[in-house]
Amino acid sequence: MLKKFIENMPKVELHMHVEGSMEAKTLWELAHHNNYKIEYNSIDELKAAYKFNNLTEFIDMYMLGTRVIKSEQDLYDVCMTYFKKCVEQNIQHTEVHCDIRTYVDYGYPPEFVINALHGAFIDAKNNYGITGGFMPCFIRHLGAEVAQADWDLMSPFKDKILAIGLSAVEVGYPPSLFKETFAKVRDAGIHVIAHAGEEAPADYIWSAIKDIKVERIDHGIRCLEDERLVEYLVDTQLPLTVCPQSNVALKIFKYMSQHTLPLMLEKGLNVSIHSDDPAHFNAYLTENMISIAENTSVTKQGIIQMAKNAINGSFASKQRKKELHSNLKDYLSHHQDSNSQVST
Ligand SMILES: [Zn+2]
Repeated sequence: MLKKFIENMPKVELHMHVEGSMEAKTLWELAHHNNYKIEYNSIDELKAAYKFNNLTEFIDMYMLGTRVIKSEQDLYDVCMTYFKKCVEQNIQHTEVHCDIRTYVDYGYPPEFVINALHGAFIDAKNNYGITGGFMPCFIRHLGAEVAQADWDLMSPFKDKILAIGLSAVEVGYPPSLFKETFAKVRDAGIHVIAHAGEEAPADYIWSAIKDIKVERIDHGIRCLEDERLVEYLVDTQLPLTVCPQSNVALKIFKYMSQHTLPLMLEKGLNVSIHSDDPAHFNAYLTENMISIAENTSVTKQGIIQMAKNAINGSFASKQRKKELHSNLKDYLSHHQDSNSQVST
């Protein structure tokens, strides 16, 4: 019953890396189309390698995905495959990560990524009514100079960029290292976000807030280790994009039943559920929500609250947020028992 309710519910996604939506089949087909030799002999063999034992194996597969993409059209196609999934899952607004640095290092210009994502978003709006935008991240373990170089490459295209974040290896690379570049990003009118408090401690979340002035935190689950931070996050309602299946796959929690999302919700944090790398973790947004509902104490009310949090935490225009809330409200009105005691 709850499963059906979640499947059909209108949704907003705020944390999804586009290469992480490449199913084994897509990767396989692109590799063959582009004559890129991979070490797997069949789709099934490749699929089996999607079951990661550790972070390194995950990163290797993620990078393989980037290597089989050889043209703007390939990347556009990968985006459109994700948008088709959004239609299936009733994801009506989505804000998508895709870093330019990897492709720049392969020898492509920054427009390769920027135009592919921008074009895909235009077609997603025209074909499916899906809104959202493109959010490249600086790859933090490459350091501050590379981040500055990335910004120099991207700034001429700032109108096509919704937000800029920080991704990849967290420990050892606090947001404070990127303070100067993010000041320029903010001055250009681009939203600032950062992966923080996933593998690194709560201090990194403080640094994201104080040093680069984030408007949203990706993950942020380790905020619970610092009471003062939790208080601050509750007061400011700074959104945290939690990715449950990613956390389990990367062994931050051994089982979904151990996930701290119920506690985060109970404390009044502005949390919402997202998929991170849905093909790699074998769970798109719907499956992440269902898994939380089935394996933790989060109730239907909690799921609805988080759907509202995702709308509020998005960078959609005021008008679009109103529409998204109205679509959700309409849906809930057809499920009367679920619509009480949840604040917007
Ligand atoms: Zn992520």
